[in-house]
Amino acid sequence: MNESRISVLSCPNCRSWLVIDYRDQKFYQKGINVLVYECPFLVCKKCGFEKLVDIASRTIEHRLNKALSEGAKQIEIQGPPKRLRFDYSEDIPFEYDGRDWWAIPGLHRPWDEGFLTPVFFRRKVLTKYMTQPGYFLGMSSATGGAIGFHERWSIRFGINQRNEVAIWLGYIARLPEEERYYLRSENIPSSHDVGSDFFTASIEVIAPSPSPELKILEARDRFYKSVFQKWEVSISHFDNEAIDSMENIVRPPVWTEEIVRTVIDALNKVCIETLDSSNIKSHLITENKAKADDLKDLRSLKLFNLWIKIFLRVANSEEILRPLFILYDLRVLLLHLFPKEKRREEIKSIANRLSIDKDNLDLESIYAELIDRLAKMWEKLCEFADQWKDFS
Ligand SMILES: [Zn+2]
Repeated sequence: MNESRISVLSCPNCRSWLVIDYRDQKFYQKGINVLVYECPFLVCKKCGFEKLVDIASRTIEHRLNKALSEGAKQIEIQGPPKRLRFDYSEDIPFEYDGRDWWAIPGLHRPWDEGFLTPVFFRRKVLTKYMTQPGYFLGMSSATGGAIGFHERWSIRFGINQRNEVAIWLGYIARLPEEERYYLRSENIPSSHDVGSDFFTASIEVIAPSPSPELKILEARDRFYKSVFQKWEVSISHFDNEAIDSMENIVRPPVWTEEIVRTVIDALNKVCIETLDSSNIKSHLITENKAKADDLKDLRSLKLFNLWIKIFLRVANSEEILRPLFILYDLRVLLLHLFPKEKRREEIKSIANRLSIDKDNLDLESIYAELIDRLAKMWEKLCEFADQWKDFS
């Protein structure tokens, strides 16, 4: 969650996302018994914080004042009607809870009634957009992204704390019929849980912090710019394949091996396969730092390591570059078939090198740790390169 501005869906105690819960409650106020039925509360599942949503407290306040002036001793208030439907995509009707539009702060607007109603999907709905030709998926942060088809359409979505996908009903209604049929097949009942960067960005206009994947690409780019400024050498080259791969460098929307493999392979292409072995070699040789014979058996990653060690004068370059070596090994593991036992050992060794101490090793924790380390590594390399900027 973005820390700079606080979302209305952020718990004031523990910063977890608040969820709407429709509940009955009785209380006694100003000498009047108040009974509310299926009234929306904002609830924190983590620390137990709860509060009535503003629009509901205003209604209760109004009814209380009326009861006071009439001398009534008890009032009963019914929450919004459960079967509320809106005039969006009614030819292919989606499952949603119309009360969410009324109850979730920020969605209820006097115009476009129901447009911002959240519709929920199983997370695997996203797989199609990552794997089928013509479709695309981009993550702008860990919990917000966009899907689309060629130049024809694109819509934004969020991922909530339950790993469900949420899309506004009004967005869905604009999609072609066949796309809506597909989405409908993965549609699930509302969990009333929309907290995500998607919500804060589209409703509260709070910019999400960049994803770690974007930080990697940005810092990597900055590093090579500094290197070129100082030594006038391109030790990395970018070809069309690498440019295409950049699109796939997003946090996996689902944790299947196929998707994680796609992302790791793309990262490997951009971070390792773009290293320009022949330029690195000739730079080392022309600057009299190495002899051609000593370099002939070295592959790109080892050459890069040597270049860092010599030109940036980083004694522990192997340690600094460790995330790249791990990335390389993880890619080999995911792209090739290994016997089960060997595979388990390899995964364990990778986790060990990432200092992950866990009995149940899952791809998500390995991925998260590796990405974090890669982002820090490129940042560190930028610092080393910048130290040399002012030396002639
Ligand atoms: Zn809380």
